[in-house]
Order: sequence, then C-alpha cells, then structure tokens
Amino acid sequence: MSAGRAQAAGVTDGAAGAERADIGVIGGSGFYSFLDEVTEVTVDTPYGAPSDSLFLGDLGGRRVAFLPRHGRGHHLPPHRINYRANLWALRSLGVRQVLAPCAVGGLQPEYGPGTLLVPDQLVDRTKGRLQTFYDGVPRPDGTQSNVVHVTFADPYCPVGRGVALATAREHGWEAVDGGTMCVIEGPRFSTRAESRWHAAQGWSVVGMTGHPEAILARELEMCLTSIALVTDLDAGAEVGEGVSHAEVLAVFAQNIGRLRDVLFDVVARLPKERDCLCASALAGQDPGIELP
Ligand SMILES: [Zn+2]
Repeated sequence: MSAGRAQAAGVTDGAAGAERADIGVIGGSGFYSFLDEVTEVTVDTPYGAPSDSLFLGDLGGRRVAFLPRHGRGHHLPPHRINYRANLWALRSLGVRQVLAPCAVGGLQPEYGPGTLLVPDQLVDRTKGRLQTFYDGVPRPDGTQSNVVHVTFADPYCPVGRGVALATAREHGWEAVDGGTMCVIEGPRFSTRAESRWHAAQGWSVVGMTGHPEAILARELEMCLTSIALVTDLDAGAEVGEGVSHAEVLAVFAQNIGRLRDVLFDVVARLPKERDCLCASALAGQDPGIELP
C-alpha cells in the first residue's frame, strides 16, 4: 500500500479486500505468528508511521489486523510508541473494534502473576504523551482539526468487556471483572513509595501502554477492550527485590498460549454490528478532519 493512499482516504471499499479488517489486535507477534496466511500491510498516517506493519489474517470468520505495539523485536519503549499512528492506521484499514492485550503488574496481593483482569477504569499517570487527534495543529496535508472533547467516563467498550470476560471463563480462566489500570510513563518500574500510593488508591494493576491507547480509539469512534495479564506483583505489593524484566517475560511466556486462545475466541464472538456508545463518541461535535 502506498503511503499516499493510506493518508488520503484509507482503503476504499472493494479496492483491496485483502487489505481490510474489522477487528484490530494491538499486541506482540506471539499472537499472529502461527496463522496460516498473513498479509503484511504497510500504512502511513498523517501522524507518522505506526509501530510496525499491520499483519492481516482470517480468524473465526473475521478479518483481523494485528499490530505489534512495540514493533517487531520489541524496539519501542512505551513512551516512544506512536499511539496516534497506531490507532489511525487500524481505522484506515476498516477496523472498528480493537482488542488490547497487555502485561501489567498487580497492585493488590490478590492479583498475582497469571491473573487475567479486564479493567473498566484507568488512571493516567503518564507525562507528555500526545493523547488527542483534535489538537488544532496543522497536519502535513494542511488540514487542521477542530477542538473536540469526548466523553471518557467509561474508557472501555462495555460489549467487548463482556465478551472477553465470558470467553475467558469458558476457557477456565476466572478473569477479574473490572478494576482500575494505572498507566505510568515508564520505561522504569515504580518505586515502592509510588507503588504503595497507587495501591492505596484502590487501583488494581499498573501498566505502561494503556494510555493513550483507549482515548485515541474513543476519539476515532472505535471500541477498545483492554485485557490485562498480570506478570508480577508491583513493588509495593510484594516483599522481594522488586520487579525485574526477566520475571515479567517468564510469566508472559508461560501464559501467552492460553491468552492467545482466549483472544482468538473473543475475536470470533465480537458483534458484527455495534450498538454501543463508542460508535457515536463524536455525535454532535465536528472534528474538522475526515476520519479514515
Ligand atoms: Zn464499543
């Protein structure tokens, strides 16, 4: 796909069926690497390049676009991910529902390694990330958005959350229904004092990529469902040496297979027609730019 075409209008209907998808999965290469047939599509956006190519495949009768959040080889730290380009690129391929699996630390002792949690709230503790498409800054093609304020009281798609929870339970994984994901800037982990403070607020898990992914999806009227796998207890909730990256990777490796199984079933079960409020997040407001 040429950069110009993606920038101009996304992929038009019927132009290239192989380059369309209706569900997006933002996650590691472990999720799609074994699919039989994968089409690699390069998309450019008015906000720059996404983390990597998008990998399109068929799953449970649905067309899915996988995007490695940190790039192939995991070279992008959380604070350098081009979140705007990632969400814009997915939408330009036709994606309207996004699944966002991520690794998190447990802030409460009951959420130990291997816990699956489908959050219903988030708290932004990041610093200086670009978190809106509607900043009124001219884009490369000279167009410029209006200022838009979207409702974000409930940051995640209620329908996607329900499907994720029911599917995990059918797989024998008693996922935690709801909870607050605290998103820190990273790439360092929290100090014990920070972690105890986060826990004392009653927040459930801590991660580094959940913001601004969810708000950017909402700004493009896409559904987003976060599926958080706890890989460690955060510094304030454990009594050992603190979180190590090796520990995180080991727990992730142990659980990637069953997380993938759950995720693929969730893809198949997401509704084909949306009746959630995500789909009309911009109702009554003029973004001033054409969405892809
Ligand atoms: Zn929705």
